[in-house]
Amino acid sequence: MERIELLIPGSKIEARVKELGREISSDYQGMKPILVSILKGSFLFLADLTRAIDVPHEIDFLSVSSYGSSTQSTGVVRLLKDLGTNIGDRDVLVVEDIVDTGLTWRYIRNNLLTRGPTSLRIVTLLDKRERRVVDVPVDYVGFVIPDRFVVGYGLDYQERYRNLPYIGALDDSSLQDSGVSYQGSGKENDFKN
Ligand code: 5GP
Repeated sequence: MERIELLIPGSKIEARVKELGREISSDYQGMKPILVSILKGSFLFLADLTRAIDVPHEIDFLSVSSYGSSTQSTGVVRLLKDLGTNIGDRDVLVVEDIVDTGLTWRYIRNNLLTRGPTSLRIVTLLDKRERRVVDVPVDYVGFVIPDRFVVGYGLDYQERYRNLPYIGALDDSSLQDSGVSYQGSGKENDFKN
């Protein structure tokens, strides 16, 4: 059984998502953006964010493979499910759970840009900034978090823990015990938004 350390309580997530919703609503005044949720990790964030945005908008879903059974990014991203909407000449806001190395977002961004959107931005609940290996623009960030493997509020560890109402960090020894390699070194338990 893995040990999970509380990193961001549900009440803080709720407050921050409302703030993001207000900021996005103000930036998209008079527009009708399409929110593209990256499955599966961002499903709870999307559900709360869509209710915190008061400009008319649509939602759609994109599914990509990222880590598979490992917790280490390979940089190889596969499209599992494509959008149902034509995003040409649309204002697109991608909704992500976490930007880590940035490889997944770079792949998605380049892919969506070929479809000719009017604008393309990303809102990510979590930003593990210190692990970035590629320089990609990240427009809206819920929380900058330290270099820990996190679960909860949509994020999983081997398909578990998505239902936790908070963000928690898996104990490093839990990851080692399970034979999973994760090149995280940060022990810091501080974060900012
Ligand atoms: P990147 O390509 O930026 O390295 O990773 C992006 C994807 O990796 C995220 O969408 C998420 O699926 C996964 N990921 C990165 N860090 C974590 C983490 O700490 N916990 C979990 N559950 N997934 C993560």
